[in-house]
Amino acid sequence: MELRNCPECGSVFTFVRTNLCPACQKKDEEDFRKVRSFIIRNSNASILKISEETDVSEKKIMRYIREGRIKIGSDNEGIIVQCEVCGKRIASGRLCEACSEKLSSGLRRSIMQENVKQQEDDQKIKDQYDNKVKRGHRMYTMDHLNKN
Ligand SMILES: [Zn+2]
Ligand SMILES: [Zn+2]
Repeated sequence: MELRNCPECGSVFTFVRTNLCPACQKKDEEDFRKVRSFIIRNSNASILKISEETDVSEKKIMRYIREGRIKIGSDNEGIIVQCEVCGKRIASGRLCEACSEKLSSGLRRSIMQENVKQQEDDQKIKDQYDNKVKRGHRMYTMDHLNKN
């Protein structure tokens, strides 16, 4: 049996599955339902507007989005959620599809490795280009570059 402090109200409770105590969990579900039904009807509302209309804190609404429980309209200018890895705009959660795919097949580390590999590849291409210029193949290389 594991005891925890509820981050919402501070009361001690037995941890089962969620971080919140049963009372706050119940409240959280109610808030979530309110926010979700509001967003379904007002897909372009800003976080502030949603917060005002539903009485749910902006922080909480952002958490729902980050947890992937709520999706915002792709044309919603009021809420901007970005992929934590590449910064691409996403509807919900923390990562875009491409990055979450990468993450599920490895870990964040593999993305770092890929970035390093990409940089190495870039360097290789640059070296090859430099070598060609040094070896006197400047004309060929320049033609080649102009085509791209
Ligand atoms: Zn609580
Ligand atoms: Zn991404």
